[in-house]
Amino acid sequence: MDRKVRVRFAPSPTGPLHIGGVRTALYNYLFAKQNGGDLIFRIEDTDSSRFVPGAEQYIIEAFEWLGIKFDEGVSYGGEYGPYRQSERREIYKKYVDQLLDEGKAYYAFDTPEELDAKRAEIENFQYDAKTRGMMRNSLSLPKTEVDRLLSEGAQYVVRFKIEPGRDVHVDDIIRGDVSINSSILDDKVLFKSADQLPTYHLANIVDDHLMEVSHVIRGEEWLPSAPLHVLLYEAFGWTESMPRFAHLPLLLKPVGNGKLSKRDGDKLGFPVFPLEWHDPKSGEVSSGYREKGYLPEAVVNFLALLGWNPGNDQEIMSMEEMIKLFNLSKCSKNGARFDYVKGIWFNHQYLLQRPAELWVPEFDKLLRENGIEATPEKEAKVVDLMKLKVIEYTDNQGNKKKRNISFVSDLWPLTKFFFVAPDKYDKEDKFVRKNWKEETWAEMDELAGVLSAVDNFTVDEIKDMVEAWVEAKGCKPWNAWRVCLVGTGQGPDMYELAACLGKEETLRRMDNALAALK
Ligand code: GLU
Repeated sequence: MDRKVRVRFAPSPTGPLHIGGVRTALYNYLFAKQNGGDLIFRIEDTDSSRFVPGAEQYIIEAFEWLGIKFDEGVSYGGEYGPYRQSERREIYKKYVDQLLDEGKAYYAFDTPEELDAKRAEIENFQYDAKTRGMMRNSLSLPKTEVDRLLSEGAQYVVRFKIEPGRDVHVDDIIRGDVSINSSILDDKVLFKSADQLPTYHLANIVDDHLMEVSHVIRGEEWLPSAPLHVLLYEAFGWTESMPRFAHLPLLLKPVGNGKLSKRDGDKLGFPVFPLEWHDPKSGEVSSGYREKGYLPEAVVNFLALLGWNPGNDQEIMSMEEMIKLFNLSKCSKNGARFDYVKGIWFNHQYLLQRPAELWVPEFDKLLRENGIEATPEKEAKVVDLMKLKVIEYTDNQGNKKKRNISFVSDLWPLTKFFFVAPDKYDKEDKFVRKNWKEETWAEMDELAGVLSAVDNFTVDEIKDMVEAWVEAKGCKPWNAWRVCLVGTGQGPDMYELAACLGKEETLRRMDNALAALK
């Protein structure tokens, strides 16, 4: 039977969305769109102790920025709502009762202290078929006692009764047949009387079933709970309509072993969250891809290739292309190294695809932060002249490195001389020392004269006049001329630079240099 593809991204609002969660959502999105299916946005907020205000809004805003669109769910609406688990209490109660009535779950009255005592007494204590008889629950206590406790309003949890000694198979799209023996599972808590809420395990299964989810694509960390989920589907009699599972590869640290963590980001200087996050409790600010100047298309493209590739070397892909090429069953089982430097490379690629006009708003902001006002035309011109330059930077380990311009913010201080004349001419500067000789002053004085005679101060006319003079004189004035206009050995083609500065500013800088370097 061909089933409509319905997938879901189901975060718990416990803080900002980790970049690994973004990749999970992206894979769900690609898979849904590729199959003409639906992507559901569900909030799994049944653990009230871990609820963080603002997290849900943050997640929604992050996906809006990234261009990952949901078809239904919290803030999108739809026919399977409500989509926030805390608003679905009544629904879960019924399913908990069903399992209790059928003897597939039981009440457990053990207090936290009693549980602690057992853990202290028995090494590696696990609440299961072997131990449940020694505990206080509806399987070990007489019925009258159970009824009394319930009618007196004693606190309880409902536990899933796991039959030991069975091999449980999970048919995972990425990992193949995963099999574990039910004896290693504990009788998971499905419901807590204290807040009248189910736990993740129950709510997750009930909702996937009721929302007609066809595929569960989730992070690797949930793989251990998959066998339990299979048993729950069975207990409810839903095996036929059980979704297919796909557990994605882990994201690994950029260097060393283990899974990517926020600390790696802090240490190496890259964000692990899509948007900047202001922690409401501690006030701590964590950096985000958006605020760091990444383009959403670049982030999406970068993440898509962490665990999947189209089978050839193609790296730059639009969302449309990825929807066509994506292949869930070809995702890697092995962890994907989070190569954040590659993320910077993607941003460079996507930034260069943008016309200069689209750099202008952010560039203008950057200039204003540095006390500079300029026209959008000049700003666009400067972008065009400088966007292919290489910048030097110091990495988090203090090493000096070079890379292509990858962020609009890389343009400062690189382009400063377009807007601010050199405030000094330093004879000790290496470039100046090398290019300012005995005869240079007189040459530059002459060049200033040539430039002042250019009527129409465009690249072509400046070039015609200067080259005619160069030929007649037989000199090579460019480096010294650069010293006059920039103060050192930076910048674009001299004709471009002079035209961009304009005649007045060019001549003023020539005068200043001649006065300073006499
Ligand atoms: N609420 C779980 C989370 O926070 C969802 C896991 C799943 O996809 O089933 O990641």
